[in-house]
This record gives sequence, C-alpha cells and structure tokens, in this order.
Amino acid sequence: MNDHASSVDALARRALEEVAASGDLAALDDVRVRWLGKKGTLTEQLKQLGSLPPAERPAAGQRINEAKQTLQAAIEARREALERARVEQELLSGRVDVTLPGRGEERGGLHPVTRARMRIEALFRRAGFDVAEGPEIEDDFHNFEALNIPADHPARAMHDTFYFPDGKLLRTHTSPVQIRALISRGAPLAVIAPGRVYRSDSDVTHTPMFHQVEGLVVGENVSLANMRAILHGFVQAFFERDLKMRLRPSYFPFVEPGAEVDMSCVFCDGAGCRICKHTGWLEISGCGMVHPHVLKASGVDPERFTGYAFGMGIDRLAMLRYGVNDLRLLFENDLRLLQQFRAF
Ligand SMILES: [Zn+2]
Repeated sequence: MNDHASSVDALARRALEEVAASGDLAALDDVRVRWLGKKGTLTEQLKQLGSLPPAERPAAGQRINEAKQTLQAAIEARREALERARVEQELLSGRVDVTLPGRGEERGGLHPVTRARMRIEALFRRAGFDVAEGPEIEDDFHNFEALNIPADHPARAMHDTFYFPDGKLLRTHTSPVQIRALISRGAPLAVIAPGRVYRSDSDVTHTPMFHQVEGLVVGENVSLANMRAILHGFVQAFFERDLKMRLRPSYFPFVEPGAEVDMSCVFCDGAGCRICKHTGWLEISGCGMVHPHVLKASGVDPERFTGYAFGMGIDRLAMLRYGVNDLRLLFENDLRLLQQFRAF
C-alpha cells in the first residue's frame, strides 16, 4: 500500500470513529458536512488527485470513493439508530402509569339561591303555574304606576330605587312582571316571576341586589282562600315539614286586602328561638288580592276577574332551608360556603 492509500484509510477510520461518537442528529450532521460536504476532508482528497502521478490516479480515486460510500452508509445507519433511540425516549417519557392513584375530580354545584329558585319553580309548575320573566331595567309605568303606586305615593320612598339618567330604573320588585304578563296574556292566568331586584340598601339583612319570586293568579272566582291554600301547600312542600301558616293584615298599594304571611319557625317548630326572635313565627311573604286599579291598568276587567298576588324573598327561603345565617354570605362567592352545596 502506498502513502496516499494509507493516509486515505487513516482518514476513513477517523471519520467512522466520529460517526460512532455522534451523540445526536445535529452532531452527526456536523460530521457529515465536515467529511463529505463540498469542502469536506474526503472531497478535498478527490480534488487533490491531480497532484498524484497519472498511473496512481485511478486506484486512488476508487479508494477515496469507496471510503466515501462506506462513510455514507455508516452515517445513514447511525442516523437511523439515533432516530429510533429518540422515538423510544419520547414513548418512554410520555408513558402513563395507570396504577397511580387519581387526582380526584372537583365537582361544582348549584348556588343555594339557584337551588332554591329551581325548587320554587318546580313546585309551582306542579301546581299549574307558568314561569314568567321580565326585564331588570324597567320603566316607571311597570314598576310603579301600573301597580297603583303613582308618583306622589309614599310607598315610593320605601323602595330606595336606583334610577338611570333617562328616567328608567332597576326594578325594585318582580311585580312589574305580573303587569307585563297580564297585558300580554290577559286573564285567566297563573304565573310566578322569579328574578333579581335592586334597592339602594345594604346591611346584615339587606343587599343592593336580591332575589324575589312573585306569584299572580287571575281568573273568575279566584279568592283569598285559594291563595292561602296554595301558599300553605308551597311552604310545606318547600321545607318538607308540617308547618303552620297565618296571615296578618298588612298594606301594599297593589293589593286589597293585603297581608303578611307567617309560617311556624322551621328552627324551633314554633317554640321560640333566636332566629324567630322568640315569636315562633317567621315572616315569609307579602300577599293580597290584586287591586282593581292594577287589573284595569293591565287591561283586565275587574268586574269579571279577581286575582291574588304574593311575593317572597328567594334568598330568605334559601337561608331558611339551607341554614345560612347571614344574607351577605350568599353573595360573597366564598368557595368554603359554595363547596357545601356541591353536587355529589
Ligand atoms: Zn324559632
């Protein structure tokens, strides 16, 4: 073997060692460029063939080409091996250990007010009521005027109304929905209207936004006794308890006569406790026979039809049923409270 041949063999060996030592695809590509690229070491060898005696050139050229082919094959084999290793590594790192214990699932639940509202709706639907809705931004007519509360009426002062610059207002009760329902559907009618209402008022028992449900039944021969039976049936079903109920005369401009509804205290069964202020009774609703002015304002003939209406605080019903003792807790979105109402 001549000098040239042995130096080509030595170069080829070095190249193969470098291929074997390449730890990743990038390193392998460096080796390829360094040896086989346009300015690679073996490529340069070919270019220098001209400096050899003509008789030696064919054999030298063939040797260099063979070295290039061997190197090329080695690089390909190494590339395949590195790629296989990479895929295996990826599969290994993405492997899921199915024997590990799970992380558990955080389940949400319905807010107690939502729960109470859905329960109220379900019970009244069962009694033949429709659920009606109306806008939270109301006008003076639907919120006051049509409910027999004209502009100079002292009851307006009790409503602590939020007004908009254009004279519209945030409804102070869900009663305007009964006006809208009566005007659009006419009599006979049985609806409840649950929803948010707003008053500029905030302390332990008042929040600026709270939830009411209004009930309205209008028809021929609708009486106070009907209302009493419906309300009593409702509180017993809502609290799943045998509760007493009583009506106390009261005044609301949109009913005549009007009454407050008390039920026996759900905490002490009427014996008297802190919650019922030792009276044994809890006030849960205002109600009465719909005032003829209200029927007339809604286009219903008060000579032919009568009706009753009642309003209840959904938040208060939720507090009583679920034992929440501060109204504000319902609206703070504290997860510690809400987690107690998770779905199971
Ligand atoms: Zn009590």
